[in-house]
Amino acid sequence: MKRRVYIETFGCQMNVADSERAATGLRASGYDLCDSADDADVVLLNTCSVREKAERKVYTRIGEIRAAQTGKASPLVGVMGCVAQLEGDSIFEHAPSVNMVIGTRATDRISSLIERAREGERKVIDLDERGENDAWDVSPVERHSPHVAFIPIIEGCNKFCSFCIVPYSRGRERSRPANEIVAETRKLQSLGYKEIHLIGQNVNSYRPRVEDGLEGFPGATPFCRLLRAVAATGMPRIKFTTSFPRDFHPDIVTAIEENPNLCDWIHLPVQSGSDRVLKLMRRGHKRSDYLERIARIKSSSRRLALTSDIIVGFPGETDDDFRQTLELVEQCEYDSLYIFKYSRRAGTPAANFDDNVSEREKTNRFLELEKVQRRTQDNIYRSYVGRTLSVLAEKQSSRSESDLSGHSTCHKVVNFAGDRSLEGEIVEVLVTGAKTNSLYGKLIDRAAVV
Ligand code: SF4
Repeated sequence: MKRRVYIETFGCQMNVADSERAATGLRASGYDLCDSADDADVVLLNTCSVREKAERKVYTRIGEIRAAQTGKASPLVGVMGCVAQLEGDSIFEHAPSVNMVIGTRATDRISSLIERAREGERKVIDLDERGENDAWDVSPVERHSPHVAFIPIIEGCNKFCSFCIVPYSRGRERSRPANEIVAETRKLQSLGYKEIHLIGQNVNSYRPRVEDGLEGFPGATPFCRLLRAVAATGMPRIKFTTSFPRDFHPDIVTAIEENPNLCDWIHLPVQSGSDRVLKLMRRGHKRSDYLERIARIKSSSRRLALTSDIIVGFPGETDDDFRQTLELVEQCEYDSLYIFKYSRRAGTPAANFDDNVSEREKTNRFLELEKVQRRTQDNIYRSYVGRTLSVLAEKQSSRSESDLSGHSTCHKVVNFAGDRSLEGEIVEVLVTGAKTNSLYGKLIDRAAVV
C-alpha cells in the first residue's frame, strides 16, 4: 500500500503554492496525499513565521497531532516552510517528536528526506538552497482550486523592512525564468483555468537572470514586460500580488490599461503615512513617493481597485505620526485595508527598538483607523450597487447552498444565486446589495468570456 502524506498549510499564498509543489513531487515519488493527519503515515506542517503567535501555533499543532496518535502507529512529522528555515535544528529541542525540518528551499527534496526518516535517521534536516534544476511544476490535481491558480514568479525578499522576518526565512530574491511562467500560464489555460495570480513577496521587483520569453514585449521594467507577455497568452483573468511601492513603475498601470485581461486590482502596502515611521521601518519610500504612485493608479482609464496594509503602533509612532496615517488612508480611498497592530518579531531589527506604544494605544489606533476605513469602504462597496460585474463563479457559498461565490476582476467577493453547474464559468452579475466586505448580486448572463 502506498504511504499517505498529509500537508497542513499555514500563512500566505507562497506557502499554498509550495504545498501544491510539494504534493506534486510526493505523488510523483509514489506517495498518496490524504486529507487528515489521522489517516497519514507522514504529516508535514508548512509553517508561517510572520508573527510569533503563528510560530507558537505550530508547536501546539505538533502536540495535538501526537496526542491524537495514542494506540496507533505514529506518523513521521516534518516541519517545513518559514519556521523550519528560521529555527533549524532548535525545533528538535522544542519538539523532540519532530522527525524532519525542511527549509523553504528544500521543497523538491522532500521525498528523499522522508525516505531518510523512514530508514531510521533521526533529526533529518535540510536548510540548503534550491537546486539549479528544481521543478516548479504543479499538477492540476494538487492546485487549491480548479479555476484559480497561483504562479510564483519571484521568491524571497531583498528589502529588509525592519519589522519583517521574510528576508531571513525566504532568503534573497530569485526570479523564475519568464519562459517558464508564460509556458505555465498557457498550460493552465489549456486545462481550463480562468484566473491566475502571479505571486511573490514583491512581484514588481521581478528580475530574471535571463529574459527569454519576453522578447518583443515592451515595458519599462522586466515585470512590465512579463505582464504584457502573460496577457498575450489570452488567459482570461490575470491578477498579481504583492507589489512593493518603491519598485512600482507607472508602466504597470499602462500595461493594465492596454490589456483587459490584466485585472483591475492593485495591492500596494504602505504600512504608515508618516515619513518618520517609514524611515524607522526602513521601507525605502516616502509618503510623497507612495502618493505619486497612487495618483497614477487613480488616473487610470479603468477604475483600479486599491488595497493596502498598515501597521499601527510601530515603536516610536507618535499621535502625530498616526494622524498622518489616518490622513493618507482617507486620501487613498482604499477598497480594503489589512490593519495590523505592531507586535515584536524576534530576529528582526525592530525587535531591538523600544516597543513604547502601549497595547491599549495600539488598540485605540487600530479601532480609529478601522472606523475611517470602514466609512470609505462602505461608500465604495455601495457604489457598485446597480453595476454589472464580471465574476468567476468559484464555489458554493458557505452561507447558502443556493448561492455561488466568486471574485470580480476588481477582487471583490461576490455572492449570487446560482447552481453549481456554473462553477468555473465567468458570468455577468448585476450587483443588488453591498456589505462591508462583499457584494450580493443577480446573475444576468451565462456568457463565458473565453
Ligand atoms: S518588502 Fe518588507 S514587508 Fe515585504 S516581505 Fe520584504 S521585508 Fe517583508
